[in-house]
Amino acid sequence: MEKRNKRWTLDDIRAYFAQHDIRISVYRLKIFEYLINERTHPTAEEIYQHLKKELPAISTGTVYNTLRYFLDKKIIQQVNVEKNEARYDATLSWHGHFKCLGCGRVFDLNIENLKLSGLDGFEIFEKHLDLKGLCPECLKRKKY
Ligand SMILES: [Zn+2]
Ligand SMILES: [Zn+2]
Repeated sequence: MEKRNKRWTLDDIRAYFAQHDIRISVYRLKIFEYLINERTHPTAEEIYQHLKKELPAISTGTVYNTLRYFLDKKIIQQVNVEKNEARYDATLSWHGHFKCLGCGRVFDLNIENLKLSGLDGFEIFEKHLDLKGLCPECLKRKKY
């Protein structure tokens, strides 16, 4: 289900930032690196907890501001699988999300040949495909 892409180096990210007119800072680089390489759809809090080991001076405010900036620049998207928790994704290609109700992880899923109807005359601004259930690990552990 989860398609692994190649890992981005900091140089890849610097070039990507330059293309999108984004000023480089250590926090921006590290936050984007975490999003694009781990692909775990973290919350701001999870990003903060992960990065403060390496960057002790980072604050939750910095993480929130950086995420808002990335959203404005359209290099990340917010994942809407759960309304009361904002998660972030640096993968912008059309893909769906599966939230495991056992472990809480959000997985990417590929969408092929999805057929929709009833949209004649409508204009689409956003599309999201969000599924919920149990991942294989949780299914095994809980022996459903
Ligand atoms: Zn699970
Ligand atoms: Zn995703």
